[in-house]
Amino acid sequence: MNTSIYLHIPFCKHRCAYCDFNTYAGQEDSIPAYVNALIREIEFVGHRAGQTNIHTVFFGGGTPSLLSALQFDSILKALYSAFTVTADAEISIEANPGTISPEKLNAIRKSGINRISFGVQSANTEELRMLERIHDFFTVIEAVSTARKAGFDNLNLDLIYGLPEQTLASWQTTLHRIVDLHPEHISAYALTLEHGTPFGRWSSKGLLPLPDPDLAAEMYEYAEEFLESNGYVHYEISNWAKDINQLSANSTQPSYACRHNLQYWHSLPYLAFGAGAHGYANGYRYSNALRIKTYIERLLHPSSFTPHPFPLSPATVNQHKQTLQDDMSEYMLNNLRLTNAGVADSDFRLRFGSGLLDVYPREIDELVKNGLLEIKTSEVLETSEVYRLTKRGRLLGNQVFMRFV
Ligand code: SF4
Repeated sequence: MNTSIYLHIPFCKHRCAYCDFNTYAGQEDSIPAYVNALIREIEFVGHRAGQTNIHTVFFGGGTPSLLSALQFDSILKALYSAFTVTADAEISIEANPGTISPEKLNAIRKSGINRISFGVQSANTEELRMLERIHDFFTVIEAVSTARKAGFDNLNLDLIYGLPEQTLASWQTTLHRIVDLHPEHISAYALTLEHGTPFGRWSSKGLLPLPDPDLAAEMYEYAEEFLESNGYVHYEISNWAKDINQLSANSTQPSYACRHNLQYWHSLPYLAFGAGAHGYANGYRYSNALRIKTYIERLLHPSSFTPHPFPLSPATVNQHKQTLQDDMSEYMLNNLRLTNAGVADSDFRLRFGSGLLDVYPREIDELVKNGLLEIKTSEVLETSEVYRLTKRGRLLGNQVFMRFV
């Protein structure tokens, strides 16, 4: 079975007010030591992995584009020598449009990175300012053009909607401007106000007008219609992709779907490297130490920590051996996100030895009666039934997912 790799790069130039990711501003001096620690962790896990084929690699953050081309090169070399990376592997990097240069993009494209994802969030100057992003939309246009010239033909743009004081018209303008840039893939997530972030604190003190949920729903519905009418296939609740193969008979995913994220949504294994990174492999869900210094320290002195079965490393601080119940429940939560594919009864049966209606009869019955789930005959496996979210179910995804926890 193919495995994926996630590498966390927890550095940012500035910490945006809404962000609750494990990322730190003003610690760029630690990047060289961090890259060395990352390489040690890759070697450590690689030695215990046996024959492991890697078909997707994802540099996420944080702001991976703060690393130099040489640093990417040395991490990729470590990956290639520790694992068998398939010839057609998807290798993605998240980039902040304000932190790239033609030289850097040319060099990282040459090093084998073949997909780039820009955190755009909005095309509106005021909204970008409110989010405390370091770029404006002109920088985005330049970044996309630079990426194209460097040879990136698989490009994602990330957006956020449901911002305080955002209007439907301003969201529509953002979508139009984004589509004009012809990315192969678009992600659009609703803003969530997280505890512990400045946005969360301001909102609890009444200083930040809460995003209106009805308006956010209207924005989502507009995105669904507009993106589909512009040739993007809505394949996951928050993700759209171009399709050059016209959803063929043996695939329910568009050709530019993010293969790395499909690994998560299909509940398939992925290894995690870096501070605070989360992984799922060999029956474990696990995560690493959050702080950069602790992470580096643990990899400098690996013998001070208890022995580690694959895929754990000296940086692992949380590990959970999955039960069958955990795996089934997570399988439902992940796969139901796939708006086209949904959950096929035959796939569930193959993986867990029981049918969906044997395990979740009451839950499925209620959700279908409430118009949140629909049952279709699979277009790929004509004999199998597929359960997927209805249009309403996509808007109320959390209510559906809670039923399977
Ligand atoms: S650039 Fe991205 S990861 Fe960094 S603080 Fe802002 S939102 Fe978070």
